[in-house]
Amino acid sequence: MTLFQKIIDREIPADFVYEDDDVCAFRDIAPQAPTHILVIPKKPLVKIAEMGEEDTLLIGKLMLCATQIAKEQGIEDYRLVINNGAKAGQSVFHLHLHILAGRPFTWPPG
Ligand code: C5P
Repeated sequence: MTLFQKIIDREIPADFVYEDDDVCAFRDIAPQAPTHILVIPKKPLVKIAEMGEEDTLLIGKLMLCATQIAKEQGIEDYRLVINNGAKAGQSVFHLHLHILAGRPFTWPPG
Protein backbone atom coordinates (compact mmCIF):
# COMPACT_ATOMS: atom_id res chain seq x y z
CA MET A 1 0.00 0.00 0.00
CA THR A 2 1.35 3.44 -0.89
CA LEU A 3 1.62 6.44 1.39
CA PHE A 4 -1.10 8.21 -0.58
CA GLN A 5 -3.50 5.29 -0.07
CA LYS A 6 -2.88 5.69 3.66
CA ILE A 7 -3.63 9.42 3.35
CA ILE A 8 -6.88 8.63 1.47
CA ASP A 9 -7.77 6.12 4.20
CA ARG A 10 -6.92 8.69 6.91
CA GLU A 11 -4.24 6.41 8.36
CA ILE A 12 -1.69 9.21 7.83
CA PRO A 13 -2.69 12.83 8.44
CA ALA A 14 -2.62 15.38 5.63
CA ASP A 15 -3.77 18.96 5.17
CA PHE A 16 -6.71 18.36 2.82
CA VAL A 17 -7.98 21.18 0.62
CA TYR A 18 -10.54 19.16 -1.41
CA GLU A 19 -12.21 15.76 -1.45
CA ASP A 20 -15.04 14.04 -3.31
CA ASP A 21 -15.82 10.44 -4.29
CA ASP A 22 -13.19 10.31 -7.05
CA VAL A 23 -10.33 12.62 -6.12
CA CYS A 24 -8.78 14.43 -3.20
CA ALA A 25 -6.19 17.15 -2.76
CA PHE A 26 -3.85 17.99 0.09
CA ARG A 27 -0.83 20.19 0.73
CA ASP A 28 2.56 18.67 -0.04
CA ILE A 29 4.50 17.88 3.13
CA ALA A 30 7.71 19.30 1.62
CA PRO A 31 6.51 22.28 -0.43
CA GLN A 32 8.67 23.30 -3.39
CA ALA A 33 6.82 26.61 -3.79
CA PRO A 34 4.67 28.83 -1.53
CA THR A 35 1.63 26.88 -2.79
CA HIS A 36 2.24 23.18 -3.41
CA ILE A 37 -0.83 20.97 -3.53
CA LEU A 38 -1.16 17.38 -4.71
CA VAL A 39 -4.33 16.29 -6.50
CA ILE A 40 -4.80 12.53 -6.62
CA PRO A 41 -7.40 10.09 -7.90
CA LYS A 42 -8.74 7.74 -5.24
CA LYS A 43 -8.34 4.95 -7.77
CA PRO A 44 -4.82 3.60 -7.17
CA LEU A 45 -3.30 4.21 -10.59
CA VAL A 46 0.44 3.72 -10.24
CA LYS A 47 1.37 6.42 -12.76
CA ILE A 48 -0.11 8.36 -15.65
CA ALA A 49 1.33 5.87 -18.16
CA GLU A 50 -0.94 3.23 -16.66
CA MET A 51 -4.15 5.09 -17.35
CA GLY A 52 -6.52 3.34 -19.71
CA GLU A 53 -9.33 4.60 -21.88
CA GLU A 54 -11.69 3.91 -18.97
CA ASP A 55 -9.78 6.55 -16.96
CA THR A 56 -10.29 9.39 -19.45
CA LEU A 57 -13.07 11.02 -17.45
CA LEU A 58 -11.23 10.55 -14.17
CA ILE A 59 -8.06 12.21 -15.46
CA GLY A 60 -10.11 15.00 -16.97
CA LYS A 61 -11.70 15.50 -13.58
CA LEU A 62 -8.26 15.53 -11.95
CA MET A 63 -7.23 18.40 -14.23
CA LEU A 64 -10.50 20.26 -13.74
CA CYS A 65 -10.18 19.91 -9.96
CA ALA A 66 -6.66 21.32 -10.13
CA THR A 67 -7.87 24.43 -11.95
CA GLN A 68 -10.77 24.87 -9.52
CA ILE A 69 -8.52 24.45 -6.50
CA ALA A 70 -6.11 27.00 -7.98
CA LYS A 71 -9.00 29.43 -8.39
CA GLU A 72 -10.17 28.83 -4.82
CA GLN A 73 -6.63 29.40 -3.58
CA GLY A 74 -6.54 32.70 -5.45
CA ILE A 75 -3.69 31.71 -7.74
CA GLU A 76 -3.72 32.58 -11.43
CA ASP A 77 -0.30 31.50 -12.62
CA TYR A 78 0.75 28.02 -11.69
CA ARG A 79 2.55 24.95 -12.90
CA LEU A 80 0.91 21.52 -13.09
CA VAL A 81 3.37 18.62 -12.96
CA ILE A 82 3.02 14.86 -13.25
CA ASN A 83 6.23 12.91 -12.74
CA ASN A 84 5.97 9.56 -14.53
CA GLY A 85 8.54 7.03 -13.30
CA ALA A 86 11.51 7.26 -10.96
CA LYS A 87 13.88 8.84 -13.50
CA ALA A 88 11.33 11.59 -14.07
CA GLY A 89 11.22 12.31 -10.33
CA GLN A 90 8.29 10.15 -9.24
CA SER A 91 8.78 8.95 -5.67
CA VAL A 92 5.25 7.92 -4.66
CA PHE A 93 3.72 5.33 -6.95
CA HIS A 94 0.13 6.49 -6.77
CA LEU A 95 -0.66 8.94 -9.56
CA HIS A 96 -0.61 12.57 -8.42
CA LEU A 97 -0.75 15.98 -10.03
CA HIS A 98 1.35 18.73 -8.44
CA ILE A 99 -0.01 22.29 -8.36
CA LEU A 100 2.89 24.68 -7.79
CA ALA A 101 2.52 28.43 -7.46
CA GLY A 102 3.69 31.56 -5.72
CA ARG A 103 7.14 31.98 -7.18
CA PRO A 104 8.64 32.30 -10.68
CA PHE A 105 9.43 29.02 -12.43
CA THR A 106 12.18 28.40 -14.91
CA TRP A 107 12.06 26.42 -18.13
CA PRO A 108 13.30 23.84 -18.84
CA PRO A 109 12.68 22.26 -15.42
CA GLY A 110 15.63 20.66 -13.64
O1 C5P B 1 6.16 13.39 -7.99
P1 C5P B 1 6.69 12.76 -6.74
O2 C5P B 1 6.34 11.29 -6.63
O3 C5P B 1 8.15 13.01 -6.48
O4 C5P B 1 5.91 13.52 -5.59
C1 C5P B 1 5.67 12.96 -4.35
C2 C5P B 1 5.36 14.10 -3.44
O5 C5P B 1 4.72 13.61 -2.28
C3 C5P B 1 6.59 14.87 -2.98
O6 C5P B 1 6.48 16.24 -3.39
C4 C5P B 1 6.55 14.72 -1.46
O7 C5P B 1 6.99 15.87 -0.78
C5 C5P B 1 5.09 14.43 -1.21
N1 C5P B 1 4.76 13.74 0.02
C6 C5P B 1 3.74 14.26 0.84
N2 C5P B 1 3.39 13.61 1.99
C7 C5P B 1 4.03 12.51 2.37
C8 C5P B 1 5.07 11.98 1.55
C9 C5P B 1 5.40 12.61 0.37
O8 C5P B 1 3.15 15.29 0.52
N3 C5P B 1 3.69 11.93 3.52
